[in-house]
Amino acid sequence: MNKIWIGTNWKMTKTIAEGIDFTKELKKISNAITSDLQLFIIPSHTSLVPIKELTTSSDIFLGAQNMHWEDSGAYTGEISPRMLAEIGIDMIELGHSERRQYFNETDAAINKKVHAALKYSMKPLICIGENIEQKKQQISKETLAAQLKVCLQGVSMEQAKEVLIAYEPVWAIGEQGVPADAGYVANIHDFLRHTLEVLFAEVGRDIPILYGGSVNHDNFLEYIDLENVNGLFIGRAAWNIDSFQEILKKLELHLESEASQVL
Ligand code: PEP
Repeated sequence: MNKIWIGTNWKMTKTIAEGIDFTKELKKISNAITSDLQLFIIPSHTSLVPIKELTTSSDIFLGAQNMHWEDSGAYTGEISPRMLAEIGIDMIELGHSERRQYFNETDAAINKKVHAALKYSMKPLICIGENIEQKKQQISKETLAAQLKVCLQGVSMEQAKEVLIAYEPVWAIGEQGVPADAGYVANIHDFLRHTLEVLFAEVGRDIPILYGGSVNHDNFLEYIDLENVNGLFIGRAAWNIDSFQEILKKLELHLESEASQVL
């Protein structure tokens, strides 16, 4: 598993015009990238169609921030997997802590969405993370194992090859977030890898586990160098294209220098 996943969820921040400007610039950056990076962006639903027109002729994956699990029905305000698949969405972000916190999204509901995404050949990007109380009570691992097991209930080995996990400790996310230290992240990612191997045997070894939560220019290399961190899920530090570009450039230089040391 060599590919490094780097992407950003724009949350409710960009208009269509702003999203288009960002994506046009990201396409130029992506064309110049030589390392094995898989870039992805996750805009608001309103921007998906125009942005898909831009990402089609690029290597950038396009994701949606949420969806319902049913194909269609009386669910006012919801978007179905069938509708997202029609656009050609590559991946669906599921279970972000804000969806869990503000919209009462449960692991059981996320599990239904995971199956719906897989049915339409869209990659589920499943977000998990413990909150500060769970961390203080020292039940982080139990919490994460339960989230993984329920969200992935009924997923076959074959289907598991399409899944991505994002570990995002709730206490590390957003304006109030405290960046996690790399030792803590290493320990949790090793545990998640082990749990995925228990669930999916050798397939579990290759499921990408991304890290997210106050990732920024100063700390991202510490995280990306960890054995079981296969990518970064970045919020604020990637919403401005210049800031995102700076991270990507620094990462490329870092990967090149690592590769030259191996030779
Ligand atoms: C997030 O909300 O998923 C996130 C990672 O945000 P930030 O990087 O801004 O903490």
